[in-house]
Amino acid sequence: MSLSSVIPHADLTTMNTLALPSQAAYFASVDSVAQLQETLKWWKSQRTSLPVMALGGGSNLVLAGDIQRLVIKVDIQGREEVQEDDQFVWLRIGAGENWHDLVRHCMDFHLWGLENLALIPGNVGAAPIQNIGAYGVELCELFAELTAVEISSGVSVTFDRDACHFGYRDSVFKQRLRDRYIITSVTLKLRKEADLCWHYPALQQYFAERETEPETPLDIFAAVCEVRRSKLPNPAEIANAGSFFKNPVISDAQYQQLQQRYPDMVAYPQAGGKVKLAAGWLIDQAGWRGRQQGAVGVHERQALVLTHDGCGTGADLLALADDIKSDIYERYGVELEIEPRVYLGRPNAAE
Ligand code: FAD
Ligand code: NAP
Repeated sequence: MSLSSVIPHADLTTMNTLALPSQAAYFASVDSVAQLQETLKWWKSQRTSLPVMALGGGSNLVLAGDIQRLVIKVDIQGREEVQEDDQFVWLRIGAGENWHDLVRHCMDFHLWGLENLALIPGNVGAAPIQNIGAYGVELCELFAELTAVEISSGVSVTFDRDACHFGYRDSVFKQRLRDRYIITSVTLKLRKEADLCWHYPALQQYFAERETEPETPLDIFAAVCEVRRSKLPNPAEIANAGSFFKNPVISDAQYQQLQQRYPDMVAYPQAGGKVKLAAGWLIDQAGWRGRQQGAVGVHERQALVLTHDGCGTGADLLALADDIKSDIYERYGVELEIEPRVYLGRPNAAE
C-alpha cells in the first residue's frame, strides 16, 4: 500500500456521534472530486476485496466492530449559486459542508425552504441518502440534483430528483444503489418567497405559548432550533445517533385494530390509505424511556433516541435495539426498523 493519503488502522471512535469504538482497516480524507477519483483508482489497483464506505459527520451510523473497508471521509467544501430566476436560486454545495452551517447561510441570504431542517447534524453529502426530514419538510422538496462518483469506475454522474427515488427517510442510495456511489455535491432549489410550514404540534405549541405566529422563515428557524435544543440530546454531550427507529407505516386495517385497544395511540394518516405511527410513543408506552442497559440506554426525554455512555460497544447497542424491537412486536404486532446504517464490522455480513 502506498498512497500517502490512505492510512491503515484508523480510529473512528471520534468520527461517529454514538462514540462507538471502531477502527477502519484503511482511511482516507478527500477534499476534491479529483482526489476522490485518484483514491478510488489506486484502491482498485490494489485488487483488494475490501469494499469502500463513505463517511460524513458520522451521525447516522452504528459501527458494530472494526470496519473492514476503506473508509473515505468526504470533505469537499464550497457553495456556489449556479442559476437564478424570479422565484428560485439554485445553490450547489460541496458534500463535505456541514448541514446546519448551510441552513444558517441560507437564512442569512434569505434563501428559504431549509428552516424546518435546522440543527440536523451531519454533512450535505449524506442528506439525500435518507432524504432527511423534520417538522413536516423533507430534503426532496428543495432538491434539484446531485453529483456522485461511481465507486467501481470512478466516473462522475448527475442524478436528478426522479433518479434518486426519494421516499420517507429513504432513497435509491439506501436501496438499489447502496454502496455504489459517493456523493460529491448537492444542488438545492431555494425559494426567494417564504412558504411557512409550522403545522407540527411542537411548532404550534411554541408559537401558542408566546401568543404569536411566525411571520418569516427566520421565526421558524429560531423555533426549530429552540425546540430541538430543549428535546434532543446534543451528541457532543450525550453520544447518540438521533432517532434510532423509523416511524412505522402500517395499513389502515391494522391501525383500526390497534386504535381500539390503544385509543391514545399517536398516528398520522399517509397517502395511499396507510397510517404512520410515532415509534417514540410505542417505545415510551412500553416503558423503555429512561431505561439503562449497561453502557447504553433509552434517552429520558426522547424514547426514540438510544444513548451510549462511552464505555460500551456497537453490540451492546444492537442488543438493546433488539430487545426493544421484540417487545414492541409482542405488544403491538408492529415491526420497528432501525434508521441509522448498521456496519457489522465484517465486509460481507448482512448489514
Ligand atoms: P454519516 O453518518 O456519516 O453517514 C450516513 C450514511 O450515509 C452512511 O451509510 C454513509 O456511508 C453514507 N454517506 C455519508 N456521506 C456520503 C456521501 N458523500 N456519499 C455517499 N454516501 C454517504 N435525520 C433526519 O432525517 N432528521 C432529523 O431531524 C435528524 N435529527 C438528528 C438529530 C441528532 C441529534 C442526530 C445525532 C441525528 C439526527 N438525524 C436526523 C440523523 C442524521 O443527522 C442525518 O441522517 C444526517 O444526514 C447524517 O449525515 P452524516 O454526514 O452524519 O452521515
Ligand atoms: P415530535 O414533534 O414529538 O413528533 C413525534 C412524531 O410524530 C414524529 O416522529 C413525527 O414524524 C410525527 N408527527 C408529528 N406531527 C406530525 C404531523 N403533523 N404530521 C405527520 N407526522 C407528524 O417529534 P420529535 O421526535 O420531537 O422530532 C421532531 C422532528 O424532527 C420530526 O420531524 C423528526 O422526524 C425530526 N427528528 C428526526 C431525527 C432523526 O434522527 N431522524 C432526530 C430528531 C428529530 P416524522 O418523524 O415523520 O416527522
